[in-house]
Amino acid sequence: MEYNEILAMQKNFFYSGKTKTYQYRLDALKALRESLIYYEEEINQALMDDLNKSPYETYISEYGISLQQLTYATRHLKKWMKPIPRSVGINSFPGKAYDIFEPYGTALIVSSWNYPITLTILPLIGAIAAGNCCVIKLSELSPNTSNVVEKIVARAFPKEYVTTILGGKEESQQLLEQRFDYIFFTGSTAVGKYVMEKAAQHLTPVTLELGGKCPCIVTADADIREAAKNIAYGKVLNSGQTCTAPDYVLVYEKVAEQFCREITNQYKKMVGDSLTNPVYPRIVTERHFERLRRLMEEGTVYSGGHFDQGALKIEPTVLVDVKPDSPVMREEIFGPLLPVIPYSTLDEAETFVQEREKPLALYLFTTSKSTEIRVLNKLSFGGGCVNDTISHMTCDGLGFGGIGHSGMGTYHGVYSFEAFSHKKGIYKKSRVFGLSLRYQPYAQKVSRL
Ligand code: NAD
Repeated sequence: MEYNEILAMQKNFFYSGKTKTYQYRLDALKALRESLIYYEEEINQALMDDLNKSPYETYISEYGISLQQLTYATRHLKKWMKPIPRSVGINSFPGKAYDIFEPYGTALIVSSWNYPITLTILPLIGAIAAGNCCVIKLSELSPNTSNVVEKIVARAFPKEYVTTILGGKEESQQLLEQRFDYIFFTGSTAVGKYVMEKAAQHLTPVTLELGGKCPCIVTADADIREAAKNIAYGKVLNSGQTCTAPDYVLVYEKVAEQFCREITNQYKKMVGDSLTNPVYPRIVTERHFERLRRLMEEGTVYSGGHFDQGALKIEPTVLVDVKPDSPVMREEIFGPLLPVIPYSTLDEAETFVQEREKPLALYLFTTSKSTEIRVLNKLSFGGGCVNDTISHMTCDGLGFGGIGHSGMGTYHGVYSFEAFSHKKGIYKKSRVFGLSLRYQPYAQKVSRL
């Protein structure tokens, strides 16, 4: 079927009004949950084949999170759908004002390979909770998982409601030529700009979930062991191929050596000999593997540095003596390399972050409340953690998204529902009585009330 035919079919279905009812949305969320559970084994196998992710890692970062968000949406859907009363003010008195959440229509979701379940299911929860139809373009770089997602969606939904498209850049570009009512894109900043250009042609609203370099700041008063442990956790997850992975560490100079030692120990504890560890995730393609190998040469290897080209695995590697303007500090690393950069004053660390594009996440390690307040107020970034990494993405109540080059728009939980809804402001005039002040003729009325 041609893409324009798929879109026409979905628009027809949307105009039937079925997808807007509470019951239809609720049943859809339940059907998605049932289908995910049905395919659990295939999901585990596919992620092992695509990225060498263990079932446990799949559970904590893909399957389990998707089920958790589905449960949360199912529980809160009725409340989310309710109109929100707003203040009327003196100008429109007497009457009522409220916001109604209206689905956009047919949404396009373009997703990425690094968390191919999460990055498809989480936006889809938002799209259907908000009452939309949906076309999902899956990633070509995680082909096994994309095939399973296709089956999950086909089991749960008719094509006129939700459908998937397999393929890469070409399919994505053809889809972006169509006039969707909403576009939700996850991927690189460069492609995000292209998506926005295409969306602008029809003034289609977008959410862009993009990448960037996420800094960690480890201050003089931080608990170094805890900092190392939690940064290591965020960095070994999917071998650093996570949009919110710690990209580099700014560490107070007098504790820098201790930090490097600690994180090396933590890496050992967590993944042991990573190259022979049967469940250490691999790098997604040879092109990315080669890119990372080149980046590794841009500093002194403090620890790690080994790789297995055949298995596409790279050891968690600590890099020191990196130049601030070298490629490893300019491009998003998206792999298990961790530059560690000492700083002498907090001002210097803050300036280092401010001179670069606004990151998707920032992680601050400190025991001082005043440092926490200072850094959180001073630096601009999508979201983040204090004394942890990644975990802000898995809080039910928190929105997730970037700012500037790391993206625009927020999702997860209620924010997903809002992202896929237009907020329609309504004023309802009182029929009981009204003020005559606004009506013509004005000639007899005084200009100041
Ligand atoms: P990508 O931009 O190459 O691809 C993303 C999607 O766009 C894929 O479906 C792909 O088929 C399609 N695509 C690729 N090139 C295209 C083009 N020229 N025109 C139109 N469509 C195109 O990104 P990726 O390699 O899949 O993912 C890695 C990037 O995504 C990293 O920068 C990472 O930080 C970011 N990311 C962000 C988030 C987030 O939530 N903010 C999550 C995961 C990944």
